Amino acid sequence: MKTGFHILVIGGGMVGACVAALAASNRHFADLRIAVLEANPPTLPPPAAASDVDLRVSAFSRASERVLREIGAWQLLSPQHVCAYDDMIVWDAEGKPRGSGSIHFSGSESGEPNLGYIVENRRVLWSIYDSPSFRNRVTLLRGELTGLEFEDDHAAAILSDGRRIEAALIVGSDGSGSASRKLAGIETRGWEYEQRAFVTHVRTEHPHGRTAWQRFLPDGPIAYLPLADGRSSIVWTTTPSHADRLVVETPEQVAKELMLAIDGALGRVEVDGPRGQFPLRLTHAKDYCRERFVLVGDAAHAIHPLAGQGVNLGFLDSAALIEVLAEELERGIAPAALGERRILRRYERWRKSENAVALGLVDGLNKLFGNRTSTLGWARRTGLSMLDGSMLAKRFLMGRALGTGGAAPALVRAHRP
Ligand SMILES: Cc1cc2nc3c(=O)[nH]c(=O)nc-3n(C[C@H](O)[C@H](O)[C@H](O)COP(=O)(O)OP(=O)(O)OC[C@H]3O[C@@H](n4cnc5c(N)ncnc54)[C@H](O)[C@@H]3O)c2cc1C
Repeated sequence: MKTGFHILVIGGGMVGACVAALAASNRHFADLRIAVLEANPPTLPPPAAASDVDLRVSAFSRASERVLREIGAWQLLSPQHVCAYDDMIVWDAEGKPRGSGSIHFSGSESGEPNLGYIVENRRVLWSIYDSPSFRNRVTLLRGELTGLEFEDDHAAAILSDGRRIEAALIVGSDGSGSASRKLAGIETRGWEYEQRAFVTHVRTEHPHGRTAWQRFLPDGPIAYLPLADGRSSIVWTTTPSHADRLVVETPEQVAKELMLAIDGALGRVEVDGPRGQFPLRLTHAKDYCRERFVLVGDAAHAIHPLAGQGVNLGFLDSAALIEVLAEELERGIAPAALGERRILRRYERWRKSENAVALGLVDGLNKLFGNRTSTLGWARRTGLSMLDGSMLAKRFLMGRALGTGGAAPALVRAHRP
């Protein structure tokens, strides 16, 4: 069987679905056929109850909010499922949350309404699938990619059930283990971290105050992310053996460890949610494109979760790719030429260098704070205190975290409420 599209996105996770919806909502793509191939697409909306919070939540940046608004997805999220956080407090293991060796980012101080939002991944994913542009213009194909073929004027995706789907451009968005990246012959650099992310939800004695709390411990940082129902979501990066233990220990013992890990900043802690753990790796594709094929999201780069940047970088990739392609269409190229490498290279040059900065910064932070040398400990605390006193430095870091700094795509820079 043969089917043809102008753009075929492999992997309809948050990033892949967003690429398709952005193209579908852009007037330059009005006559183009767009499809997403996804092995496990969501079939039902997540439960509506505010207290039904899935284990997988993320911090979404201002830039991501703007990208999702553009496709009409953000507007579909119910306020009871979105927790805006106004402040972020980060401190070193040997410092105090509000004393020396800490840094306090505040939305109000920087002229921002807030610093971002904590939302469940599944609700954001559903909102993209349910957005008008996705529903009306994107063909959703359920199936698993097993092969790729490249011809001069198109590429073809081969599915496990034998279907063959042709497209002028194939976008690889199938996550960090990306089959499409491997099938396209693109290599990666990177390594596995000797760390895992332990996740759960907790109730705390003191309210979270719409603040994200993060303390750097020698084995890795622990974050308390505020949830809309008053609980906090935990992401604790720690050794694999410790993460294994946290998953099976009694809730009371885990609660005790979680309280100590943030030095009692939120008082007593009670575990109130399922528990899980994720392996962590850094991956960066050596190339982002070849003729008729381009990478976005985790398929191009996987980053340590300590700065909550993974999917945010993926949304920036999506916006940048669609901006580049829209400019070419506006200039009058034929839609069949969208997959030409010379066009895709513009996107690659733009996003590869931006993502390399983010990957390097976050990896460097993980190493710096994981180093137990006492002189470095002193330097870290002094550095954090100095940063806390410098509004200019804090604004720069916040611009990066909000996704609006650096070489941001136009739709992210131009704020449309
Ligand atoms: C503990 C933890 C906390 C995190 N916190 C944050 C945070 O706060 N903020 C943040 O920005 N990021 C965070 N991240 C990172 C974030 O979760 C990822 O960056 C994001 O989910 C990647 O999205 P994606 O769409 O690129 O890939 P994925 O979500 O992996 O989606 C890939 C899709 O491709 C499909 N697929 C795969 N193979 C095939 C195939 N052969 N055929 C068809 N379909 C296929 C899969 O079914 C899947 O739906 C966190 C990560 C972890 C582990």
